[in-house]
Amino acid sequence: RLWATAQALLGHSMAYGTLVVLRDATREHLARQAGNDFVAHVAHELKSPLNVIGMYGEMLADASVDDPALRVEAINVIQDEVERMNSLVNNLLNVSKLEMGSMRPERHRVKLDDLLRDAWQQARARADSKGIRLELQVARDLAAVSVDKDLFRIAINNLLNNAIKYNQPGGSVVLAADEGDSDVVIAVRDSGIGMTPDDRERVTEKFFRVRETGLEQRGGHGLGLYLTNQIVELHHGRLTIDSELGHGSVFSIHLKKMPALVEGGQVL
Ligand code: ADP
Repeated sequence: RLWATAQALLGHSMAYGTLVVLRDATREHLARQAGNDFVAHVAHELKSPLNVIGMYGEMLADASVDDPALRVEAINVIQDEVERMNSLVNNLLNVSKLEMGSMRPERHRVKLDDLLRDAWQQARARADSKGIRLELQVARDLAAVSVDKDLFRIAINNLLNNAIKYNQPGGSVVLAADEGDSDVVIAVRDSGIGMTPDDRERVTEKFFRVRETGLEQRGGHGLGLYLTNQIVELHHGRLTIDSELGHGSVFSIHLKKMPALVEGGQVL
């Protein structure tokens, strides 16, 4: 529309230089707008936990509130909110590294068995506390892949955390890894709340969160899947999502297999 308006306003011979300025100004304006929205969004996300910490901190400082149960609750709430802010700040640091192009994967030949087992172990306490069964199903002799272990851990942890978070007591989560002809596929399957096809299309967008899922109680900032997807793409892999509202979801990471190493006639 800008082009058309500018062309209508200006003679054709003068238009070119002016149009360039107009387009640049528009782009700058949009970038500034996106930046402002981002700052406003992050400020808002940090403000609510800070308010809660402030309130409960005041309560702890008030000697007249001497009910031990209340004091324990205050400490728990403060710890939870600090954890929430921590995860937001860590995610933001990763997003900023990613967007500045300074997140460079250091890829090595990795057999994923140990890494997946560690991630499973770490997530077990969280799953237990929510009454969710967490299973590990890794195929024997899984082919090696080329990954940056630290980045890949972030991706797997995000998927496991979500599978536990968007689930219900009595539900289950399976962390599975298997291989096809050319790919290793790591899947996180949950029997949780699932999502609609429209939401499924959008969940890897930055700050996107599905409404009407009681999100206040589930925490989060809409950055986990954005980061996960970017990390998978940095590895030249693919993240696919299957989901059915009310029944559960499967998030799968597809990575190219590395050729087997053979030494002295033995496959390593
Ligand atoms: P958040 O911090 O909100 O969890 P994510 O980027 O990890 O951010 O996820 C984006 C949104 O996708 C979530 O807010 C949630 O609505 C939806 N979502 C993610 N994982 C699942 C899942 N396993 N089951 C159902 N919905 C999910």
